[in-house]
Amino acid sequence: MVAALTEKRLLIGGEWVETGEWIEVRSPFSGDVVGRVAKGGAEETCQAVDAAEKAMREPLPAHKRAEILVRVAGALGRRHDEVARQISDEAGKPMKAARVEAQRAMSTYTFAAVEARKLAGEMVPMDAAQAGEGKLAFTLRRPVGVIGAISPFNFPLNLVAHKLAPALAAGCAVVLKPASQTPLSALLLAELEEEAGLPPGWVNVVVGPAAEIGDALVEDERVKLITFTGSGPVGWKLKERAPKKRVNLELGNATPVIVTADADIPVAAAKVAQNAFSFAGQSCISVQRVYVERGAYDEFVAALLPLVEALKVGDPADEDTDVGPVIDEGARDRILDWIAATSGQVLTGGSLEGDLIRPTVIAGAAPQDKVSCEEVFGPVCTVTAVDSLAEAISLANGTRFGLQAGIFTTNLDSALRAAQQLEFGGVTVNEAPTFRTDQMPYGGVKDSGNTREGPRYAVREMTEERLVVVDLP
Ligand code: NAP
Repeated sequence: MVAALTEKRLLIGGEWVETGEWIEVRSPFSGDVVGRVAKGGAEETCQAVDAAEKAMREPLPAHKRAEILVRVAGALGRRHDEVARQISDEAGKPMKAARVEAQRAMSTYTFAAVEARKLAGEMVPMDAAQAGEGKLAFTLRRPVGVIGAISPFNFPLNLVAHKLAPALAAGCAVVLKPASQTPLSALLLAELEEEAGLPPGWVNVVVGPAAEIGDALVEDERVKLITFTGSGPVGWKLKERAPKKRVNLELGNATPVIVTADADIPVAAAKVAQNAFSFAGQSCISVQRVYVERGAYDEFVAALLPLVEALKVGDPADEDTDVGPVIDEGARDRILDWIAATSGQVLTGGSLEGDLIRPTVIAGAAPQDKVSCEEVFGPVCTVTAVDSLAEAISLANGTRFGLQAGIFTTNLDSALRAAQQLEFGGVTVNEAPTFRTDQMPYGGVKDSGNTREGPRYAVREMTEERLVVVDLP
């Protein structure tokens, strides 16, 4: 299907700005140009920070911020088809998954609106100390200041929503740099915020060379917080370079799942088939490593393979496609190299169907194989037989990542042991660790990050407490 061509300018201080240069956005499936975006750089970033700082000089009351957030949620609902199609066109995300993302962005805005209305400090029990007798104290939650937001290609709408919506709820203006491969959904979202009545300067979007815009955000002292979702090396470097700012990182994972011998094997296999290959595995919590107790291993593999082979690989614009392209040729070649280099046995997939990588299941990959210890970010999962839950937990913990992990079991002790011993930001029980709703505290430990998103938690990060002490006569 030929995608419609979209042209978008940068948003700076309420103006849609052309720069004389353009970035072409291409469909990862067909290679066709699906849109173009004005290309900005350090100069536009500085103008955007000027605009954001100016906007924050006239704070918006919480009820207005909440109303705007609710209106954006409504617009996302009314324009659902257009929004989902935009995601699919630029990211190559199958429409099924793009529709879920578009719906989730509504949820993100709705929860952020709730947080805007609830934003409050707390009372401090002053007479709990002798010196505090006769005093009243409370905290105010103040916006932290201008926020620099950097987002990845894989959820070009909802991960932008997870930055813009809580920032507005917290009363912070934003300068957003979306991924160069997928800037159109972000600019569409900014458009919806404007149409919802957001005054100029509260949201600014600059698209262009990552290092140049990143440097401008890092070096500008007026930017008080950088919220980054993307790959580890880029994120941790940003944090190192900005010691005086808050730098909140949402990074990658090599997502493990444990299946105990007593688990409901058909359910576990169905959940793995569904969550290892959706959007061609390009989710930070796509199932990647499955550790199955030996007693259930053969049954699990026998249940999994037909489900994987039944997934429809093809054009992301088709409503019944399950698995589309990965983001570009470089990613495709890397994933195929990692499959070729594994010491395990490819049970299905491992090759191309047209230009697309077929969903791939690898048995018995060694822990040091890249498909086991690095983030594949492709339609690949490994299955490994283990002798005990302890061994499974140890293998699951055996990478530098710690975002989400899951266990399928009918044994309460096993579930609770896994919840306690898996070193991850989130553990799912009898659900794939790819599960996320937008109000959850979501984020990683170890190399996977240092923060939690979900509007309630992001608003906490984007505000700071100011203490007020009053002497009572
Ligand atoms: P990426 O290459 O790190 O890019 C992410 C963003 O950072 C893009 O906007 C990119 O811009 C920008 N960037 C790159 N180099 C930069 C620099 N030197 N300074 C400032 N910004 C820079 O990641 P990606 O390939 O888009 O996304 C995939 C990764 O994101 C995976 O590791 C995935 O696990 C992770 N992820 C994590 C979460 C989570 O919530 N934990 C969610 C989704 C994805 P350009 O596009 O212009 O290069």
